[in-house]
Amino acid sequence: MNWISNFVRPKLGSLFTRRDVPSNLWHNCDSCSAMLFHRELAQSLNVCPNCDHHMQIAPRQRFESLFDLGVFEEIRIPGGARDPLEFRDKKRYTDRIKAARNDTGEKEAMLLASGRIGDTPIIAAGQDFAFMGGSLGIAVGSAIVTACREAIKQKAPLVLFSASGGARMQEGLLALMQMPRTTAALQMLREDRLPFIVVLTHPTTGGVTASYAMLGDIQLAEPGALIGFAGPRVIEQTIRERLPDGFQRSAYLHDHGMLDRVTHRKNLRDELISIVRMLMKQPPPIRGELAPPSPANAGTGDSGDPAGTDGSGGKGGAALPARPSRPRDGGTIPA
Ligand SMILES: [Zn+2]
Repeated sequence: MNWISNFVRPKLGSLFTRRDVPSNLWHNCDSCSAMLFHRELAQSLNVCPNCDHHMQIAPRQRFESLFDLGVFEEIRIPGGARDPLEFRDKKRYTDRIKAARNDTGEKEAMLLASGRIGDTPIIAAGQDFAFMGGSLGIAVGSAIVTACREAIKQKAPLVLFSASGGARMQEGLLALMQMPRTTAALQMLREDRLPFIVVLTHPTTGGVTASYAMLGDIQLAEPGALIGFAGPRVIEQTIRERLPDGFQRSAYLHDHGMLDRVTHRKNLRDELISIVRMLMKQPPPIRGELAPPSPANAGTGDSGDPAGTDGSGGKGGAALPARPSRPRDGGTIPA
């Protein structure tokens, strides 16, 4: 008996356990619980192929699929980690930041990048919900100020993807002060007549909704995103009434005039290209289904890089009327 339980069973067990399979190869859809292979999920930009549920996506992954050929330059955010109140709840605030940095591989809850979409230069800011709930603290405020300054310097539009639970309570009043601070920064953008486009993603709530996330010249949102100041549960408890179905979801807000468009993630890049080019008074993009520009009118500088299709998930992208100076806009030619 001892021999069987002590020797044979562990031996058999070790033969049949799959030791080398990492646990994160499969993800469950948050909505329909379908098992999704990580590669399939990455290809669909974290949208469930089964039920179309838009799961959260890290800003870096989003930018890789947003920019032409996945190429972008990261913009450094000034100022390091700080803990002005020396805040501590169950854990120290500094330890929470360290843990968030380890988990996400990012320095703060916002990633800034400059690059081109559809051959139009833009500044992009992506909020990372995985980093302390995408909370708005001093660093995120600084990121928005930096993004505005950079947009003014480059005369480029600012595209912001919001995802946040609100202000970062560990920074108290200083976090709340980021609401007027970011609003003032966006005013500089307005004075220079540069477009500010917001893409609201799930969830965008609290102080972020009460400041920069609602100040876009164009307000887009992803399907199913929760957007509001206080959450539905808090409102329900306060007014003691049942809220209508879909309350504070993007489709509901669109129906009630709070949003300009609700756009599927797979169409977002094309839509942003059209909007940005329109607002920057550039000719409209030529869609990928059309015939590629012939070498005759492609200009001198076009080194004919037909393989330059958006390899990194740029969804066909937009090819632009040939511009001699930029050969890399070949996003059109089907491979
Ligand atoms: Zn699903």
